[in-house]
Amino acid sequence: MSAAAAAPRRIGMFGGAFDPPHLAHVALARAAVEQLALDELRVFPTGQAWHKARALSANADRLAMSRIAFADVPRTVVDARELERSGPTYTVDTLRELRREHPQAELLLVIGADQAESLHLWHDSAEIARLATIAIAERARPAMAPVPFDASQVPGGHWRPVELPPMPVSATEIRARVARAEGIAHLVPDGVARYIDQNHLYRTT
Ligand code: ATP
Repeated sequence: MSAAAAAPRRIGMFGGAFDPPHLAHVALARAAVEQLALDELRVFPTGQAWHKARALSANADRLAMSRIAFADVPRTVVDARELERSGPTYTVDTLRELRREHPQAELLLVIGADQAESLHLWHDSAEIARLATIAIAERARPAMAPVPFDASQVPGGHWRPVELPPMPVSATEIRARVARAEGIAHLVPDGVARYIDQNHLYRTT
């Protein structure tokens, strides 16, 4: 087989703090690979994101948990490059790198609807929309009506949905539950629950 024939053609990018990665992240990755017919989904734990006020857990922990969480998702690899960058990490920089590495591929940026609502505020959002198709999954929020997604917020208006059963789980809730010594087994993959426990993450005492 020639190198060109082996090169991936549809590459998804899925970024997140993954602090920790949870079952909705895994379900979204699976749904994206299947519904978008991806040849490859690259998962990018972010560096210290400019739009999150809270300091994130150590890069090494988020990377290790991401590798555990996404290990069984077909055609999915965890990519550490955003963690290795100094300074702020911008999605547009990663998309540009993917474009250089795979000039022929279609790039798809996979995000939840909460992120899509603020996509127009991301660094160089117009360039993001030029480089990638935006693939958006509905996101249910605990104790809140789902916010209807406004497609006009996507720069260029070019997007497609990823169908995902509503999963009202967030990393924020998981950290809070651990801090209160409550169980999280129903919210994260087993290996991630073990990692959190063994490494004493998110505890206050
Ligand atoms: P936090 O609560 O710390 O803000 P989070 O649960 O939102 O974290 P992130 O790592 O910020 O997790 O999310 C990564 C990506 O996964 C984002 O695009 C986000 O929209 C999406 N996502 C996270 N949780 C869900 C969910 N329950 N349903 C659909 N998409 C989700």
